[in-house]
Amino acid sequence: MEISALQKIVRDRYFETDNARGIYHTALWFHEEVGELSAAIASGDKQNAKEELGDVLMWLLTLANLLDIDMEDVVKDYLNNPRKLPSK
Ligand SMILES: [Mg+2]
Repeated sequence: MEISALQKIVRDRYFETDNARGIYHTALWFHEEVGELSAAIASGDKQNAKEELGDVLMWLLTLANLLDIDMEDVVKDYLNNPRKLPSK
C-alpha cells in the first residue's frame, strides 16, 4: 500500500474527529502512543510492539493530515536529503 493511500484512509475515517480535537491534543495522543511503543520494546513483547507501531503510524498520519502535509512528499524529501545519508 502506498503511503498516500494509507494517509487518505486515515483522513477519511478520522479527520472530522481529529480536527475537532485539535492539533495540540492530537499531538499528545501521538506522544502517548510513542510511550506505549517504548514500553512494549522495553518489555520485549514483540506482539505488543507490533500493535503499538501501528498506533504510532496512524497517529503520525493523523498529525500530517491536520497539518495538511502529504507524507509521500515527506518521505521523498527525506530520502533525497543528503544530510540524511548514513555517516561513514
Ligand atoms: Mg497504543
